[in-house]
Amino acid sequence: MNYVFNPEAIPSVPVKGTDASYAVSRIFCVGRNYAAHAREMGFDPDREPPFYFMKPANAIVLSPATTPYALSTNNLHYEMELVIAIGKPAFRVTVEDAEDCVYGYACGLDMTRRDLQIASREMGRPWDFGKAFEDSAVITEIIPKSVTGPLNNGKIELTVNGQVKQSSDLNALIWSVAEVISNLSQFYHLKEGDLIYTGTPEGVGKVEVGDHLVGTIDHLPTLELTIGPKQ
Ligand code: MN
Repeated sequence: MNYVFNPEAIPSVPVKGTDASYAVSRIFCVGRNYAAHAREMGFDPDREPPFYFMKPANAIVLSPATTPYALSTNNLHYEMELVIAIGKPAFRVTVEDAEDCVYGYACGLDMTRRDLQIASREMGRPWDFGKAFEDSAVITEIIPKSVTGPLNNGKIELTVNGQVKQSSDLNALIWSVAEVISNLSQFYHLKEGDLIYTGTPEGVGKVEVGDHLVGTIDHLPTLELTIGPKQ
């Protein structure tokens, strides 16, 4: 192909235990998928079907990393999440068949410019500036599902500077891995290269320059992020 400029490499995530990488094409994110987090954001978790937003593939940052404090925000938040990597085409799949479409799992951070997100939410405007910015999709290596098996329970935790900020269990997901895939596959032809950030438990909060974040989910690699200086 003769491009008018040299394109960036395709964003990708290494697969643990192999020399291969998972090429990323789309990043879907589920909003308010833990009841206690929905409540802390001021919503009733019982009345909502799942909803989604997206990030560009080149927002991917591989852990461990140091990223600059995000631009034009004074309220940068962490959201620790389980990430699904889709492994085969999924279109209008049933909940029963959905798990079969998973390639693997990773730990992720859905970094959020909370001030911009809330301002756009209140004005009925899109969430993009709050969610879909540079370096906003932190991720660990992917572990194939053939190694982990289905992840329907297990501890999910985030510490900031050694202090526990988020601690829950995957069994607290309002919409499970299979339910999210089944639901999202009604709206998109999901396929290899699609990542899904499944939502964050309660305890979200601000980061400051110099903070060291460590995220863990049972059976998955540990995520590490340091917040670098403002630009
Ligand atoms: Mn999130």
